[in-house]
Amino acid sequence: MSQIEIIEVGPRDGLQSVKKFISTQDKITWINLLSKCGYKTIQVTSFVPSTWMPQLADHYDVFTAIDKKPDVNYMVIINDLNNLEDALKAGVKEIAVFIGASESFSQKINNCAIAENLFLLAPIIAKAKAQQMKVRGCISCIVNCPYEGKVSVQHVVKLTQKLLDLGCDKITLADTTGKATPNEIRQLFKELTMIFDVSKLAGHFHDTDGCAIANIDVAFKEFGVSSFESALVDPVSNHSYVPGSKGNVITEKVIQYFLEQGIDPGINKAALIQAKQFIDSVLNKVYSEEE
Ligand SMILES: [Zn+2]
Repeated sequence: MSQIEIIEVGPRDGLQSVKKFISTQDKITWINLLSKCGYKTIQVTSFVPSTWMPQLADHYDVFTAIDKKPDVNYMVIINDLNNLEDALKAGVKEIAVFIGASESFSQKINNCAIAENLFLLAPIIAKAKAQQMKVRGCISCIVNCPYEGKVSVQHVVKLTQKLLDLGCDKITLADTTGKATPNEIRQLFKELTMIFDVSKLAGHFHDTDGCAIANIDVAFKEFGVSSFESALVDPVSNHSYVPGSKGNVITEKVIQYFLEQGIDPGINKAALIQAKQFIDSVLNKVYSEEE
């Protein structure tokens, strides 16, 4: 029987796309509600300089204040050694590091070329592993880059290999633009699963063109991918670095998809509705103030 892992990335990927700052207390309340839903992993924030991601500038306060359940991994994003030190101080046990699949996107998100980014990540990953942290490598824009267009499958295969060689435990393949088609996902995962054990791969699909569930279907049914990231916030259209793209596939849709396949991802519906209602009310307030 398949074990499906749904990773909630709403507090990070969802909230970083909301222009206004969501209060630290609201973030903490929301993550505490998410902790009651049955997720094994929640991506809670980004330990990156506040100039880069002002929406998540309160990462330290959020991480240290949330109620941590022993059976939940609270993952954070890290992009340099100083932030890794802060994360260690805060008690972080699982991190994610990011690279862009295209040079233009790499410049946008990390301010450097891909090769330099990998060079900078090497000591971060090594130190995290030495501290017994789990490390996830994320590759953004695996199919399309908003600035360069189509990304080659072989290039993504190479980057996956590099991140695994550096010591990442698992690689998240992210369709950041949300424009990948099921056939493009098929071509990519066909190559990836010929080389890498599928247990090392996870999918992260945005839903700009409405194909996210179809893409999950291909990755799961045809290749056995069992780890997917999603967000319990409705897609917003102002992704920080991808103009015009929408947010992550919505968690409820992913749960519904797996239930239809006869697989229970283990998320408590009542707790999920509570968490959803809370963040919806926070965001509705924020959006109404924006107008
Ligand atoms: Zn994303």
